[in-house]
Amino acid sequence: MNRSTSRDLYDRALDVLPGGVNSSVRATRPYPAFVERGDGGHVIDADGNRYIDYVMGYGPLLLGHDLPESVQAAVQSTLSEGPMYGAPTEIEVELAEFVARHVPSVEMCRFVNSGTEATVSAVRLARGYTGRKKIVVMQGGYHGAQESTLVEGSPDDPRPSSPGVPQSFAQHTIPVPFNDQEAIEAVFEAHGDEIAAVLTEPLLGNTASVLPVEGYHERLRELCDESGALLIFDEVMTGFRVGGLQCAQGKLGVKPDLTTFAKIVGGGFPAGAIGGPAEIIESFTPAGDVFQSGTFSGHPVAMAAGLETLRYAAENDVYDHVNRLGEKLRTGLTEITEDRAPGYTVLGTDSMFKLVFTRGDAAAPGPACEAGCRQDPDCDRFDRCPKTGADVEQSETERWERLFRPAMLDEGIFLTANQMESQFVS
Ligand code: PMP
Repeated sequence: MNRSTSRDLYDRALDVLPGGVNSSVRATRPYPAFVERGDGGHVIDADGNRYIDYVMGYGPLLLGHDLPESVQAAVQSTLSEGPMYGAPTEIEVELAEFVARHVPSVEMCRFVNSGTEATVSAVRLARGYTGRKKIVVMQGGYHGAQESTLVEGSPDDPRPSSPGVPQSFAQHTIPVPFNDQEAIEAVFEAHGDEIAAVLTEPLLGNTASVLPVEGYHERLRELCDESGALLIFDEVMTGFRVGGLQCAQGKLGVKPDLTTFAKIVGGGFPAGAIGGPAEIIESFTPAGDVFQSGTFSGHPVAMAAGLETLRYAAENDVYDHVNRLGEKLRTGLTEITEDRAPGYTVLGTDSMFKLVFTRGDAAAPGPACEAGCRQDPDCDRFDRCPKTGADVEQSETERWERLFRPAMLDEGIFLTANQMESQFVS
């Protein structure tokens, strides 16, 4: 496949953009395919090569690249009035009303511009509301490029995961293994009255879609209730994708105190939100005293795109459709790998999927589960499904970037740069 234009563009980009990109995950070896345009479920690169797109902007594009007429019309008519005002507009009220109507734990929202901004504000809100400092996060979880969560290590030894994050910041963050009830119980036993919040993705979407075991989130809910900590679900990736309009919290039947959104809520434009009950959300300025602000927040074009995307999903069988496609893909991948590469594991749920390359040893994730891992305790492979970020990290992650992704690209299939990020169908 000829990608010489992409190679030349990358060469130029390397002179003016660090690593040639504006988000680290985009820099694939030996050079990324530069995209020229989207077309339904495909992207077309600068050399005219066409790929089936399973990246979908890293999640925001629930409806693929061809926005329905209603979404396009809303975006264009909003834009034609002027790009933004720095004053309230009706469209942000409508989107907040929509989110509050559908997401079980949400009465109010504060809109921001990205997932990172949403989690930054949610952490500050939790600390301000509780008057406590510590934040519990999951090892292998991701909450954006922010100081409080770029932390790795163990509960007793939290360390910054990037230069530039002071150890004095990391010391307020407690990373625990996902799905491990004993580990989180021990943390609450030791630090219960210092914990402002447990911040977790409903499933580890940034570590190959590891699903929660039965009862895990319920236990988090109980521990938070007992100690007065807030439970924050980071639904930046799962929001309006897993569990449809109710989001993953609706599917799991567990109500967090706060929820962070981004990606789909902006319909392909930069938007994010922090949602929750009025009692907590009204701690944000100017209703309360926890400072929060943003020039572009509630940007009218992003609000219009998000609202019309979600309305379209509500009025059409979008979730049945994408979830059926996801199921079909996971089942097909499972059948193929079972036959030809039984050590591999297919993970995912709803419209998310991921293939994990295992080495086949007992500690690593086992053979593919039927139609993806469901963490079903009655399944005879339950013990061998990845439960934590570390389980997935033991797999041969390098094989993805070295062999699998480049080979798939040459077959016309566009996948994320690394093995950890989930893939999406539209
Ligand atoms: N939280 C989660 C769960 C995410 O998946 C991401 C992005 N992949 C973020 C936060 C950060 O969002 P953004 O890239 O919009 O800042």
